[in-house]
Formats: sequence, C-alpha cells, structure tokens
Amino acid sequence: MTDTRPYVLLSAAMSVDGRIDDTSPERLLLSSPEDFDRVDGLRADSDAILIGAGTLRGDDPRLLVNSPDRRAGRSAGGRPEQPLRVVLTGSGDLDPDQRFWHHGVARVAYAPDAVAPALAARLGPLADVVGTGARLNPGAVLDDLGARGVRRLMVEGGGAVHTLFLTAGLVDEIQLAVAPFFVGDAAAPGFVRPGLFPQDAAHRMTLAGTRALGDTALLRYLVDRPPLTPADRRLLAEAIAESRLCPPSDTAYSVGALIIAEDGTELARGHSREGGDPKVHAEEAALAKLSPDDPRLPGATLYTTLEPCSTRASRPTPCAQLVLASGIRRIVLAWREPARFVADCQGVELLQQSGRTVLECPELAPEARAVNAHLA
Ligand SMILES: [Zn+2]
Repeated sequence: MTDTRPYVLLSAAMSVDGRIDDTSPERLLLSSPEDFDRVDGLRADSDAILIGAGTLRGDDPRLLVNSPDRRAGRSAGGRPEQPLRVVLTGSGDLDPDQRFWHHGVARVAYAPDAVAPALAARLGPLADVVGTGARLNPGAVLDDLGARGVRRLMVEGGGAVHTLFLTAGLVDEIQLAVAPFFVGDAAAPGFVRPGLFPQDAAHRMTLAGTRALGDTALLRYLVDRPPLTPADRRLLAEAIAESRLCPPSDTAYSVGALIIAEDGTELARGHSREGGDPKVHAEEAALAKLSPDDPRLPGATLYTTLEPCSTRASRPTPCAQLVLASGIRRIVLAWREPARFVADCQGVELLQQSGRTVLECPELAPEARAVNAHLA
C-alpha cells in the first residue's frame, strides 16, 4: 500500500500575511518571474500535478510545463511531454467547459464514491474519474496515483487541499514562496485552513533551504511523515474509551479495539468479555463483526489498547493470528502486554515478521494502563 505512494511536494505562493489569493475575480499574482520559472521547473520534474476543485473553478489553470526545453527534456527521458493533471472534488461539481480539460492529455479526477458516477458521466472522455470511498481520501488518491506509475506528485493548491494532505501527514516537502506584500483581507483564502497539523510547535519541520527569487523569498521545508497522525491518536483514545466498557476481571486485561477503514469509516469495535462471553478478546470481538472477505480490511487500521496476544489459554487462535488472517496491514497500539498472565507476549514480533506495520503510541500508554490499574 504505502510503499508505492509517490513523493509529495506541496508548492504554494503566499503574501506576507499568508493569503494565496484575494477576493477579486482576477487571479492575484504573487510570484516574481523568477519564481514562476522555479514552479515551471518543479512541474517538469513531476509525474503528476494536483489541485482542488476550488482552485480549478477560481483560476482555471492549465497546469502545463511552459518551457520548450523542459518539455523536450521530459520527452528525451522517455516521459510524456506534460505531467498527468489531477483534480480533487468533494462535491463532484466540475465544469467540463473549463480550459483545464482541453489542454494537455492525461487527466484524473478523484471524488467520493457517491458523486463519482455522475461526474464520470459529465466529464466523459475528458478524464478518468476514480472514487475514493465514503469521503475524499488523500491516502487512496496516493495509492491510485502510485499504481499509475506516479513517483513524484506536486500539489498546487488551494488551501483546502493543502490542509487535507498536511493534516493527513502525507506531505514530504513544502516549497513556500513569500511575496513582499500584504493582502489584508480576512476573507481572502489562506495557505491552509484551521486543522490538526502533525507539524506543531513540538514537531517542527526541517528548514532545508532559503533563497531569494527576485523579490520573492523561497522557503523549502522537509516534512517527516509522522508514523502516527493526530487522527490515529484520536482513534486510539476512542479504543481506550471502549476498553472502559469491559466487565471487570481480576484474571484478564480490559482491552478495547477499533477497526477503521482507510477513508476513516468505522468498520467495527469490540472490548474484552463483550456480550457476557468471559473468554472473548477485544480484537476477536471486533473482527467477528466483519465478513472475512470485507474488501476494506487490507486498507484498514486496527487500534487496540494492548498488544494482540500471541498465545492464549482460553481459545485456540491468538489475536495476533486472527489479525494476520484478517488481512489488516496496520496496527496501532497503546502498550505492550506485561509479563503477568503470559510470560512473553510475541504479538508485535509476530505481526512485524509477517510484514505488518505496528505502531506504538507511548503518549497514550498511561491512559490505557490506568484502565487496568487493579492488575498492576
Ligand atoms: Zn487476544
């Protein structure tokens, strides 16, 4: 899944007060000529360029490599003369008469499943339309672009799309050009919208370079893709809340588990000793609510408050085996099983040896342990 996702470069120009446009109908020119040339070079280096529907409606950009030399360079390297052009839309409201659809060759539009068929009918041969699940899911966009051979993606706005990719922890690099003036209008679109960004005061980005391009300052940031996003921490906290529903026991841990599809849809949840079964484990209870053939399982994440068991006295199949059999490839947990009921739980090792991604969240371990404080 994630190993074929492209490198994501987010490129934007903003005013000193963080605006990427004003509220007039004409597009605001922020960059210097030297900076426009840098953007043309970045486009030429990209396999695909992505914008949001708002930018398409407002600016109707062509998103093409302008320089004949750069186009020739792409052709000489065996690549198409122009990159693939990509649009994201939540509503499916795209106008096929805009010039974007009538320049260049390859275009893809991503939309939630509910609106994708109508959009495909409206755009016809102008673009491939791909549904990303119940909502606009940037991870599914990157998976699909990766499968199309895109190794380097340039994200070019607007603020909603920047926010979508940044808050999901899916950006590798930001190139931010700062124009030497103010827009001074709070109604003008900003570089990003409010959100939970993995890069906050405690998780700073790496400033990899600064450059003057005419009167425009270019800041280049490298972003470590965080293994755990703010959404992961919220869902793990939700699993801890689920663990508080367990009937009390002096001989077993209280555990909560959530299974969340890649688009954020909750597929199932469960807790230890659920439904009056004194032997059932949380992961087992959650998985039992899903069909083993559910196509959303391989893209899903299991959030569990405790390491899945690798041996158990009560039932023949330990939870680590059940998780492997389910096809789930990503597991987020709060704490490892201490050697109290089982001498040495090997759940994490078992999952990792089979190629699963296992992520621990030490910040939430105390809260998950507190639910089991009477067993300490
Ligand atoms: Zn178990």
